[in-house]
Amino acid sequence: MSTATQSPARRVHIETFGCQMNKSDSEKMLGLLAKDGYHWTDEQAEADLILINSCSIRENAVNRLIGHLGRMKALKRQNPELVIGVGGCVPQHEKENLLKRVPHLDIVFGTHTFHKLPELVREFRENQRPIVSIVRQLDEYPEEIPVVREGQHHAWITVQHGCSAFCTFCIVPYTRGQQQSRTPEAVAEEIRKVAAEGYKEITLLGQNINTYGWDLEPATSLGQLLHYIHDIDGIERIRFLTSHPVNMRDDLIDAMAELPKVCEFLHLPLQAGNDEVLKRMRRNHTVEFYAEWVEKIRAKVPDMVLTSDFIVGYPGETEEQFLDTVESVRRFAFDSANTASYSPRPRTPAAMFKDQVDEAVKKERLNHLNQVVREVALQQNRRHLGSIQEVMVESYDEKRGNLKGRTRGNKIVHFEGNPRLIGQIVQIKVMDVTPNSLRGRMLVS
Ligand code: SF4
Repeated sequence: MSTATQSPARRVHIETFGCQMNKSDSEKMLGLLAKDGYHWTDEQAEADLILINSCSIRENAVNRLIGHLGRMKALKRQNPELVIGVGGCVPQHEKENLLKRVPHLDIVFGTHTFHKLPELVREFRENQRPIVSIVRQLDEYPEEIPVVREGQHHAWITVQHGCSAFCTFCIVPYTRGQQQSRTPEAVAEEIRKVAAEGYKEITLLGQNINTYGWDLEPATSLGQLLHYIHDIDGIERIRFLTSHPVNMRDDLIDAMAELPKVCEFLHLPLQAGNDEVLKRMRRNHTVEFYAEWVEKIRAKVPDMVLTSDFIVGYPGETEEQFLDTVESVRRFAFDSANTASYSPRPRTPAAMFKDQVDEAVKKERLNHLNQVVREVALQQNRRHLGSIQEVMVESYDEKRGNLKGRTRGNKIVHFEGNPRLIGQIVQIKVMDVTPNSLRGRMLVS
């Protein structure tokens, strides 16, 4: 996401990299800064404040970030009033190193301190001295953060901060700290607020959302949370991200089957289709364990759209083990999957594994897997041919000259119609499909 504010006074531009959690955090940064008189601008050259909400997931994240910041030096020369800040996951491990490597950088803040942004910016403007504001974890996350949301009909709702799973490849527990769930009351309060603002669709966000509420006193669960928020007036669709298979529970599947507003969409990353690789990833489950859950889920919610993430070329992965992953895509008939070749993240155990896979082999495996993911996605989409789908109209696609929306299962649908329908739910008959989307005709009610 690229976000910014504009006024005769101060203008801010925020560039967001990475996951939905970062997108959601950027919406909060914008909300906080708007309260301090900042307005959004799309143009970096017009901004008085440029923020980068960084991500550590991609390979060479630090070098890419430094390169990106380097290109901003010219803007600083043109506008001596310009303040440049970096937040998100990279500063959590790089801290003041970033200031050493980028002398024109003014503020470094992290995933736990962005709520202090207005204060940090004011302090920098007053003292003109670089600031580093990083903490490893907060005892309590502030609840009253204003939000300027990018979408007008769909809202991200964070229900949990951090993750305590420590998969061997993942940097999230180091950058976002241990899991902390928000209370059901706080979550419901935010949902009531967005419903009053006209939002119809929400996605609950947590890095390991199936353990939502396990750390609360009294403990609760995601299934119970779905029941608790389900009847909030105005909200018509509820989704959640991201589920860890090892933490699946029957009460969650029952909630998905019973509650009409909870959509038939489950992102359940398998990561690898071989037990030995799963063990090295410290995913704490086997492929058969995953298969049992998929069977249960499809028995209770037959229309479930199931998506996954995969990493290929994990340290030590043999050709046979990789082929098990390819086979798992066919076996579980995923509707889509995010795929990546393994690349080491600083401080994670897998970065220290000795048997790293050759880059050329990783590339070849990734291409092979992507081809199969597309094949299977096309087969899955073909099942919808001729069906009637309930579609939330999201936007008008200028390039294609048609409307774009999403099914309850989160599939993108293109169809002709009046842009006044944006924000409404319409019925679409599916006429054609590709691996990535559906094309249909709107039914007149
Ligand atoms: S559960 Fe997800 S966020 Fe947590 S460590 Fe594993 S991959 Fe990372």
